[in-house]
Amino acid sequence: MILRNGNLEDDGWVRLGDDAPVEGGVPVIVSLDRWRDDHQSLALRSAPVGVFLRPDQPPTEILGDLERLATVAFEMPVFKDGRVFSHARLLRERYNFRGDVRVFGHVLRDQYLFLDRCGVNVIEVDGPKAAEDWASAMTELSVVYQPAADNRRPIPSLRRDAFDRAGERGDNAKADARVRLFSHTYGHLSAQNLLAEMIHTEFAGRIALVSSFGSEAAILLHMVAGIDPALPVVLLDTRKLFGETLRYRDLLVDRLGLTNVRSEQPDAAEVARRDADGMLWQRDGDACCSLRKVEPLERALSGVDAWITGRKRYQGARRAVLPVIEASAGRIKINPLASWTRDLVDEYFAEHDLPRHPLEEDGFRSIGCMPCTDRIAHGEDLRAGRWRGRSKMECGIHETPASQSLTSSGL
Ligand code: SF4
Repeated sequence: MILRNGNLEDDGWVRLGDDAPVEGGVPVIVSLDRWRDDHQSLALRSAPVGVFLRPDQPPTEILGDLERLATVAFEMPVFKDGRVFSHARLLRERYNFRGDVRVFGHVLRDQYLFLDRCGVNVIEVDGPKAAEDWASAMTELSVVYQPAADNRRPIPSLRRDAFDRAGERGDNAKADARVRLFSHTYGHLSAQNLLAEMIHTEFAGRIALVSSFGSEAAILLHMVAGIDPALPVVLLDTRKLFGETLRYRDLLVDRLGLTNVRSEQPDAAEVARRDADGMLWQRDGDACCSLRKVEPLERALSGVDAWITGRKRYQGARRAVLPVIEASAGRIKINPLASWTRDLVDEYFAEHDLPRHPLEEDGFRSIGCMPCTDRIAHGEDLRAGRWRGRSKMECGIHETPASQSLTSSGL
């Protein structure tokens, strides 16, 4: 018997020993060792197949196989051991596994609610007496008997429902709900792992990196190249960039093997109409940034749900509380390096032998458009050279989503 989603039913699956023959047409659950030895023949059968893992075998052992598995089972140990709960949550929340997550072995009735919350939906019940006990327990557990007990559905399921409900209230609410979901699920990951989850799992085909190809840009470009070299990378080519920046772009593209770098330029007709002499930056910097950065960014991001920026908290007071994941105009912005320090940046460049922007050795640290970028003196704020002598601090218009994004992307 099994308890599936709280209901007792016959178990149609067979958990096989490593030497037991496989009967055709019967759903089977095998050990990790047997799966590794026989996965090709097991996967070719018409019946579904599952794998069972010991507590010391995390789901990462079968990460590449999850699409072929209908069930992942965990053996509950005799002694108190929380790893199975963690493994189940990982499967559901991080790896989005939609098949059955089952447990067998020493499962206590008091563990039911917590197993349920962790995403376990099948519990093996050993014999008629145990089935009777579990049936009785389900009656008790069907009412909230602990003040802290909440809805008995698994937390991932509840979160996804909240996300769907938010979606009905519009793109902004949906993005906010997603930020909460992602922050909880992925907030602890390293920059590389967070990027991999976002690029491969959450936003496959709907995410882009916006890069200035400035002084620290090589870090994210290097990470992305290792995850998906075909990921769209957007450079806002304002037609006012330094030649060194364009050559640095070409060098990095070549060195890192990036295959989808897009240089988004301002609309030529609009430039002719609004900035015929090319001096708008001097007359009205906000209007110039709007024409040459904000509007092209909007075009570049059409069709994507999320984008990646290279902002960091140490870059100034305006970024001091920068979150790793945030919502912006219905999209998600990912800031994988938000908590990085200058030392970490330097270490990453050294460890991966990444080339520096050629203007750095000439005293430039935050590098944008040529007319609006100056060298900085020792001890000055990193962005002190941007729009020097003017009140302008950032690109674009803060009230618009695109300019907020630009503000924070280091462009
Ligand atoms: S940084 Fe300067 S030149 Fe570049 S778009 Fe903004 S105002 Fe224009």
